[in-house]
Amino acid sequence: MKQMKDTTDELLGSTPVQRKKSNTPRSTAPRPGNKRKKFNKPGAKINNKTKPTQGRVVKTTTSPRPAKQNQRTKRAPARKPMAKPMTTKPIIMGSNKGKLRIIPLGGCEEVGRNMTVFEYENDIVILDMGMGFPEEDMPGIDYVIPNTAYLKGKEKNIKAVIFSHGHLDHIGAAPILLEKLGYPLVIGRPLTLSMIKHKMEDYKKGSAQKLKSLVIKDLKNTFKLGKLTSKFFQMEHSIMDAVGVILETPVNTVIHPGDWTLERDKNNKPILDYSHLAKIKGPTTLMLESLGSIDVRPSASQDKMKNNIVKLITEAPGRVIIGTFSSQIERVGWIIEQAEKLGKKVALDGYSMKMNVELAKEHGYIKAKPHTFIKVDQINNYPDNKLVIIATGSQGEGNAVLSRLIAGDHRHIQIKKSDTIVLSSSIIPGNENTIQRLKDGLYRQCDNIIHGELMDIHVSGHGNRYDIEHMIKTIKPDYYMPVYAYHYMLKESRKLALGVGMKDRNIFVPDNGSVIEADKKGVFMTKHKVPTDYIFVDGLGIGDVSHVVLRDRKMMADDGMVVVIATVARKSGKLVSSPDIISRGFIYMKENKELVESMRSKIKKIVNDANKTQIATDDSFIKNKLRNDLGQFIFQKTERRPMVLPVVIEV
Ligand SMILES: [Zn+2]
Repeated sequence: MKQMKDTTDELLGSTPVQRKKSNTPRSTAPRPGNKRKKFNKPGAKINNKTKPTQGRVVKTTTSPRPAKQNQRTKRAPARKPMAKPMTTKPIIMGSNKGKLRIIPLGGCEEVGRNMTVFEYENDIVILDMGMGFPEEDMPGIDYVIPNTAYLKGKEKNIKAVIFSHGHLDHIGAAPILLEKLGYPLVIGRPLTLSMIKHKMEDYKKGSAQKLKSLVIKDLKNTFKLGKLTSKFFQMEHSIMDAVGVILETPVNTVIHPGDWTLERDKNNKPILDYSHLAKIKGPTTLMLESLGSIDVRPSASQDKMKNNIVKLITEAPGRVIIGTFSSQIERVGWIIEQAEKLGKKVALDGYSMKMNVELAKEHGYIKAKPHTFIKVDQINNYPDNKLVIIATGSQGEGNAVLSRLIAGDHRHIQIKKSDTIVLSSSIIPGNENTIQRLKDGLYRQCDNIIHGELMDIHVSGHGNRYDIEHMIKTIKPDYYMPVYAYHYMLKESRKLALGVGMKDRNIFVPDNGSVIEADKKGVFMTKHKVPTDYIFVDGLGIGDVSHVVLRDRKMMADDGMVVVIATVARKSGKLVSSPDIISRGFIYMKENKELVESMRSKIKKIVNDANKTQIATDDSFIKNKLRNDLGQFIFQKTERRPMVLPVVIEV
């Protein structure tokens, strides 16, 4: 047990004492870095390899517990600090006569949670309702959704919610938010709407029936939505039915491609031509998804990727197991068709994979014959070299198929040395450690692992730097607004726009909650901010997990908890028996008998001393004293700050 050199006096001083911790390194074993999936349950220790080197110790009598909440575990700088607690102040923005307000409620300081409000006078059109994945400092949170506080009281103004495509970072919050906003009209292409309905049914049985929807049957469809008009254009993305949106308003026309990539032919020429967008009546504002603004790799070649995958499937000596995102439906559909051509059977594994393929089949986007598909539990009825298994988990997600394969807990598939395992997806930032371990795990059990570092087997669904430049040059917008990515990516995208000749004053880099106004005079960034604090979804609870709850979870995850049970006589306030101590995640009590005994003595002293100063027994007084004084005692002995939960029983 480490001993602190500081004296008690220093610790109890009224000013915060800055002190150095001993240099004894904590465990540096890599921990699951996966913030994308429910990976780190509250009981697990979360990324503790970088403990703060300076502790702030404050003596208080009112604080419910020692002051660790003031120190944050150091984290990778790219991560966004946890949002501040809810602000509920009403926003007064003045008249919006003749003004278009563009307000991103999410997706501008993060990847995911995409949602943008377009408001012209009394008409509102919303684009996308995406979910975001929890950050590492949100233990136990399943996902986060946009905050719609700004729309409170304006529900009747919502003319429509347009969905650009069916990825979860664009539709994932729809079941919750559509219900909350009283089921406004939704607009999307067929597969997108099917996926939303499916999500709604998963969330609440029967809720999809409440959906009022308009299908974009033809890209030439035009919808009049109050004083706004929506038009559409073809976009290339990794999912079918992705659509770009044109929103005409009396003062400005917004062009928003949603998520997009620029597929190029053999001569590196883009296949789709966007020059028609340059002819739209101005002024125009291009809102461009900029996830690829830091991607310097040469533009993707679908041909090369496809050739490589066909070669792999053809030449594989045994089974082929392909790990990819279930959201890459276009690729998955194509792989299934290739397998069919080669006379192989396809087994799909993973709930989202099966569901997405099913929906794409229903809409005729995957044309493979029914007999090509087999169930995973039938794979042993076919020779290995006739099998292609397509599975989820290429990011090493805890409960996805690939992780279960490595752990050996898959019911029907055991990895064989002769398998060919293909990881056909890019690394989502933040998942590097997890994917590293996934690869090590696979390499231990199989001789043929193919991933992006070895061969072109993945093409990103997002345009890179050259593609962004190409889009700006082709569309020639009057105003430019990079969106749908981390702030630094938006800034890089801004630089690209400057590089191709756009004027700085015509480029706006929004934050979540920024209010951008367009009127007859032009486009301006206002000083207003609407609330965009995270709404956490945990199990069935939406927004009921507050920052206080999260702080407690983090605290317990970092240092565990100690329960102290003190039984005192009602009249005298004296302890009637030796106090009980229970540790969870703090120390293993059997191996720390000395410490436990010293804690017990301390508790006795605290209770008996409290007794001297207090006339009668005062529950909350003793409890606070136990929390603070025992908390500090434990910190002196161990440099840990477990949560102390005192229970005082009067007899
Ligand atoms: Zn997408």
